[in-house]
Amino acid sequence: MAKNPIQFQKGLSLTAFLAQYGDESKCYHPLFTFRWPQGFVCPKCGHTDHCQIASRKVLQCNYCHTQTSLTAGTIFASTKLPLTVWFLAIYLISQAKNGISSLHLGRTLGVSANTALRIKHKLQQTMKERDDSQPLHELVVIDDAYWGGKKYDGVRGRGATGKTPFVASISLTEEGHPVKMRLSKVIGFTKEELTGWAKKHLNPDTLVVSDGLNCFPGVEDADCEHEPIISRTENGYDEFGVFKWVNIMIGSVKNALHGTYHHVSPSHLPRYLAEFCYRFNRRFELHTMVDRLAYVAMRTPPMPQRLLKLAEVRW
Ligand SMILES: [Zn+2]
Repeated sequence: MAKNPIQFQKGLSLTAFLAQYGDESKCYHPLFTFRWPQGFVCPKCGHTDHCQIASRKVLQCNYCHTQTSLTAGTIFASTKLPLTVWFLAIYLISQAKNGISSLHLGRTLGVSANTALRIKHKLQQTMKERDDSQPLHELVVIDDAYWGGKKYDGVRGRGATGKTPFVASISLTEEGHPVKMRLSKVIGFTKEELTGWAKKHLNPDTLVVSDGLNCFPGVEDADCEHEPIISRTENGYDEFGVFKWVNIMIGSVKNALHGTYHHVSPSHLPRYLAEFCYRFNRRFELHTMVDRLAYVAMRTPPMPQRLLKLAEVRW
């Protein structure tokens, strides 16, 4: 059997990672360049002359004496953790295909499980915001999916009790190969909900293929084309193979969520789903993921724990 090139691609080895980001200054310099590619600029007055004080924790403008830190205004804001811990977390999360539990993450980083959980939620938020800024386009297959609830209540799928509904969508090439996926929690499968979702996550003129569930024509109000393909028989058989990829992805994400996290509450589900999408969408670029995620993190606004906890993330 031919090797699957994605499965066997080289990620970033731990040795290579440590050589690149093994101490505080090796982490500081790339972040500095990500934040100020042309060199330091005072956030208040725009001057570039500055000095570093308190062992490089604070940068002070020589003109107006405003003090700022490298990570102020980013997802790393007010962190007390060394940057090496953040980079190692980025490494572990970005390379773990099935996710990593906060217990395991905490043990590996040498921090408490609670701290690890906060790190993870912040990085998940970074991943979500990044993918949310890049709508799917051209050809997208869409389906309804559900997380949690009672396993054996006699009702399966649509209409089952206690389950959290989410939209599963995947963009395909003309040859039917998967490009990117987006999994988004919704309040329910109504036409209005799907219109709102499509306005955020699909480019206009996207061709959306669905199984014809009543809510999916809602994407037409977001200027997308909708083509229902009713190919499923009573036992769920997908006659034309249209839903093959979307079904594979729903299955593998749910398996990984069950296997790694056991319990994910409905309010946190959107971030967990986003984590899987982010990795899947960059599966050809495993070796550059640390750099890229650190770069995006420097452009993601702070997310205080208070908001992480309360935010009922939708879509
Ligand atoms: Zn200044």
